[in-house]
Amino acid sequence: VRDVLAAGADIIHFDVMENHYVPNLSIGPLVLESLRKADIDCTMDVHLMVKPVDRLVDDFLSAGADIISVHPESTEHLHRTLSSIREGGAKAGIVFNPATPLTVLPEVLALVDLVLIMSVNPGFGGQSFIPSSLDKLSAARTLIEAHHDRTGRRVRLEIDGGIKADNVAEVAMAGADTFVAGSAIFNSGNYSDTIAAFRTALRSIET
Ligand code: ZN
Repeated sequence: VRDVLAAGADIIHFDVMENHYVPNLSIGPLVLESLRKADIDCTMDVHLMVKPVDRLVDDFLSAGADIISVHPESTEHLHRTLSSIREGGAKAGIVFNPATPLTVLPEVLALVDLVLIMSVNPGFGGQSFIPSSLDKLSAARTLIEAHHDRTGRRVRLEIDGGIKADNVAEVAMAGADTFVAGSAIFNSGNYSDTIAAFRTALRSIET
């Protein structure tokens, strides 16, 4: 974690899986708590792929999460879960799988600080980007901009799955402003060069 932060990463994205909502097992709140105890003070962006989700929301709030994102399928009461994240002092996010429509988004936009579009099916690193995610990003961007026009609130639009230096510009043009990269960075020989390549690709579309 220190190495990727030193190499220029802005945020640590924390993928939590429990072999029920997704067919894999990863890291839990104790790992995040340990990073905090080791004085890692960056933004910790926790993506919960667990069901039921509410109990772990509380654990990750206590462990020091800054952002907690949940899938609508993982809770019977999405409004309550999102509200509890905010009441616990973190920013709240909602996550959409490739086959999950954005239908609920207008109902909860006022309760979220981040919308996360999955561009792979959650569960494993190293999967290929699903191209239809670009249309979903554009649709989410339209809803977020309309919300901003009405309320003045900024909601982040994050993309997760198969993001690399050679497709990050395309997803940015479709509306994403926050980019999760796992294997593209951790499987590369040089974190700094890889993150610099992401920034170069993003600068190329700014003009
Ligand atoms: Zn994730």
